[in-house]
Amino acid sequence: MEGNHSASKPSPALHVFMISFPAQGHVNPLLRLANYLASQGLLITFCTTESFGKKMRKANNILSHETQPSPVGLGSIRFEFFDDELDENDKTPLDYNWYVPHLELIGKQKLPMILKNQEEQGFPFVCCLVNNSFIPWASDVAESLDIPSAVFWVQSCACFSAYFHYYNSLVPFPTKAKPNLDVMIPFMPPLKYDEVPSFLHPFCRLGILGEAILGQFKNLSKSFCILMDTVQEYEAELVDYMSKFSNIKSIGPLFKASDSSAGIRADSLKPDDSCIEFLDSKPQSSVVYVSFGTHVYLKQEQIDEIAHGLLSSELLFLWVMKPPKNGLEPHVLPEGFLDKVGDKGKIVKWSNQEEVLAHPSIACFVTHCGWNSTMEALANGVPLLLFPQWGDQVTNAKYLVDVFKVGVLVCRGEAEHTIITRDEIEKCLFEATKGLKASEMRDNALKWKNMAEEAVAEGGSSGRNILAFIDELMVKAN
Ligand code: UDP
Repeated sequence: MEGNHSASKPSPALHVFMISFPAQGHVNPLLRLANYLASQGLLITFCTTESFGKKMRKANNILSHETQPSPVGLGSIRFEFFDDELDENDKTPLDYNWYVPHLELIGKQKLPMILKNQEEQGFPFVCCLVNNSFIPWASDVAESLDIPSAVFWVQSCACFSAYFHYYNSLVPFPTKAKPNLDVMIPFMPPLKYDEVPSFLHPFCRLGILGEAILGQFKNLSKSFCILMDTVQEYEAELVDYMSKFSNIKSIGPLFKASDSSAGIRADSLKPDDSCIEFLDSKPQSSVVYVSFGTHVYLKQEQIDEIAHGLLSSELLFLWVMKPPKNGLEPHVLPEGFLDKVGDKGKIVKWSNQEEVLAHPSIACFVTHCGWNSTMEALANGVPLLLFPQWGDQVTNAKYLVDVFKVGVLVCRGEAEHTIITRDEIEKCLFEATKGLKASEMRDNALKWKNMAEEAVAEGGSSGRNILAFIDELMVKAN
């Protein structure tokens, strides 16, 4: 995926419209795809909500004239933010049971207008609309306007397959009557009931997110292509098997491709540059990186235990403690913690995680197992300590331990309801960095890193797949 090496060069008039659910873990991978396609000469319009756009503008100065195209490589990216009518002064946590259907209502009204306005402003017609998870209605809008659509699936192929098998009732899943049923899906290891994406569990309290994802499977035939943020070689047999049902193209990890990593970033908080200075001052493979993504909010008692576990491990650490969302109390560190830590540890509000995980000083990553974090760790060859909470994180954790063999599980299934003690955390940190399994995990991690680099290198699987996608776009546009 180095340089512009498409067999048949895309016409500069190819215009792709991308729409993302307003969450960091969704916007990040889609904007990487935008950067990649723009670098190849396409015009991309990137659309999400105004509330997320405001944060992006604040953290990335480049977005001040967002509606006009900014050059990226041979092409360009422009932004369209639409008002999702959230009350900025409302300090209560966002209720997804309300927000997901609300966004659908607003989006279905506004998206057609945005698409029409663009033509009136003289931008080329949109040859494809790309959407990601939780907004299945975007394919309905595309269909109603006769615009071809594609999905960018920002989870693993294993999770795609789990949802697909559930939606089409192809294998038995846990039910209220049999909540502890194991799930057997072709070309996947058997999943315990709490290793299945938790939104599919009959007692999941975030069922609305599961419904939104299943909406995508209802609409699957409306999309001519499923772009997948995975490396084909990571899930080879499963990708082959699932390709019998859909036009799947694995194109990950885009952040490793220079064409997409050099473009516009989607941070909703400004990354703290001092992270890299801190890592530069530490020996190779010596620092534990701790970050739980953007949505997970651990209980205060769990934060206390992690802090004590880190202290007694005597390992160096870099810990991202992002400001909590509306209505949640900021976490506090145990009294005297920072004095005891001194220059052995650093706490920041936000990091450039891809850069941090690529740093040679990183020894392991304590993570909630979001798919972006999982891919960023695998593709950088970093072993992990796993704290899955919900959604696909529980399935990713299963794979990190049993398939990729690079992870130490701190807790199985949803960790949200349990408090893991400082002693257990210290034990797991030892296992991941110095114990018998540590060097084996590091070797395995290196294998996944090399595989990712090969996939995005010229002629690699992801490089080929993304160029094949551009070729399909050209056919659609003509
Ligand atoms: N991230 C970051 N800096 C941080 C913490 C997270 O850039 O300090 C990014 C991370 O690189 C990843 C995204 O935020 O791309 C989190 O996505 P993920 O799927 O891992 O978790 P989610 O937030 O969706 O639960």
